[in-house]
Amino acid sequence: MAKVSCSIIQDLLPLYCDNVCSADSRKMIEEHLQECAVCSGMFRQLGSGLQANTQEIVEDKGKKAVLEKMSRKWKRSLLKTALKALLIGIVSTTIVLMLIYGVYYTAFVEQRDMVAPEQVIVDVYRNPEMSEQQITIKMHLTDGYCGGTMDASVDEEGNMYISVLRTVVKEVLPDSGDEVMIYGFNQAQKDYKAVYYGSPDNCVLIWQPGDMIPDAAPDDFD
Ligand SMILES: [Zn+2]
Repeated sequence: MAKVSCSIIQDLLPLYCDNVCSADSRKMIEEHLQECAVCSGMFRQLGSGLQANTQEIVEDKGKKAVLEKMSRKWKRSLLKTALKALLIGIVSTTIVLMLIYGVYYTAFVEQRDMVAPEQVIVDVYRNPEMSEQQITIKMHLTDGYCGGTMDASVDEEGNMYISVLRTVVKEVLPDSGDEVMIYGFNQAQKDYKAVYYGSPDNCVLIWQPGDMIPDAAPDDFD
């Protein structure tokens, strides 16, 4: 085989490095490189450049992977923080609303403050137009506030406790008169032992079987 010129070898060197030349060319290049210092020097340069290039790509890939990982991690932590903030927002809003409602309910809605027995004048009547067994209890609230709801309960012994309950925040009567509330019950419905105004620990007796009960005047039922 005739000697090949350096320029042909140098043209082919990139193909040789990329491993894409034919077996004949490869053989020819390798023979030439063994003999020619100039071309083998170029070959080494080409090889190390290629290696550096490859290394750079690998390093770049590594950096890119690290950056992507960091970005993913950051996005995840951002999402976590946002979700946490949302949850805290929902929970604290709920607590605040519950507190506001609790205060409102306790002050303006819940009927639980009993009008004390000493602030109530109780009259017991029988309505002549109704059954003999029907008893009417008229409660005058004398403390200047509007009435609330009536509460009546009977214990196991047959004691009935009637009371008027109000909210904590009371409404003042507009015309400074008495508030009157009327409660009726049929004494034959149960074996009543006694009827009290108030609660078991703070009450006054208003009726018990055998008590004389006056008939009410018609205007008492207006
Ligand atoms: Zn050469």
